[in-house]
Amino acid sequence: MLIAFIGLGNMGAPMARNLLAAGHALRVFDVNEAALGAAAEQGAKICTSPKDAVLEAELVITMLPAAAHVRSVYLNADGVLAGIARGVPAVDCSTIDPATVREVAAKAAAQGVRLADAPVSGGTGGAQAGTLTFMVGASAELFAQLQPVLAQMGRNIVHCGDVGTGQIAKICNNMLLGISMIGVSEAMALGAALGIDTGVLAGVINSSTGRCWSSDTCNPWPGIVETAPASRGYTGGFGAELMLKDLGLATEAARQARQPVILGAVAQQLFQAMSLRGEGGKDFSAIVDSYRKPR
Ligand code: NAD
Repeated sequence: MLIAFIGLGNMGAPMARNLLAAGHALRVFDVNEAALGAAAEQGAKICTSPKDAVLEAELVITMLPAAAHVRSVYLNADGVLAGIARGVPAVDCSTIDPATVREVAAKAAAQGVRLADAPVSGGTGGAQAGTLTFMVGASAELFAQLQPVLAQMGRNIVHCGDVGTGQIAKICNNMLLGISMIGVSEAMALGAALGIDTGVLAGVINSSTGRCWSSDTCNPWPGIVETAPASRGYTGGFGAELMLKDLGLATEAARQARQPVILGAVAQQLFQAMSLRGEGGKDFSAIVDSYRKPR
């Protein structure tokens, strides 16, 4: 299949590489010359704009930083919608707000183009290994068409509902993840301050009702889970800056829906303070440092 791939960053580059390895031909575009050069070395055809990239493409995939980039890549005069043929499907894998996806999808639909949202989880490791989870918002028909290609970049391809619902699933899950990591941090730090061995405490939590992914797989206290970022100086894993972005999307979507997200808003503020301290590059589990003396 001839695929247009736009956005070759930390996630997009390895995803594109997996599509090339699966035998697809790629027309690629990015504003970063170095990213284009690396893709060309692997056999992709460099294009001069999103409009140029989608010429003759049978499928369009975008993987961009935020809503403003998605808007400009699709809607500008040299954008995707200026060049894409009627009937060609497009899928945006960026993490953005549901309202923007629906707005761009409506503009695409007006010219006979179906756009799906398919944000991912699994991080750069998942993108490299081809084990991402895709949360897909699309009609059943479009989902069936996209599923085989997404499966060449990921392991779990989940149909969440119509366009926009992939983003809804992603921001709700990540808001809960941010809140649960703060909860586990608070409990572990309180236990340490009161004098229990933190290994014993984690063992009790992980065999009791407090257990969750943040306690049993990515525990924020160093030395509890050998493979967790906390046990290697909070490197790797899921960056706090990305968690802050997702919490911002969740709280803004909640504001628009007039839906209270009390703990989500507190979590957003805690990660914002972490970012201000210059710690946004660490794994998000380093939020535990909000609860203990500087080391
Ligand atoms: P990134 O910043 O590394 O890559 C984005 C790429 O888009 C860059 O190469 C940039 O040059 C390119 N770009 C920006 N504006 C462009 C434009 N107008 N036209 C063409 N290319 C343009 O970001 P990333 O880490 O690859 O993340 C991409 C998306 O995936 C984000 O929405 C992010 O929230 C989401 N995500 C990231 C991770 C992660 O662990 N990095 C995990 C899950 C989801």
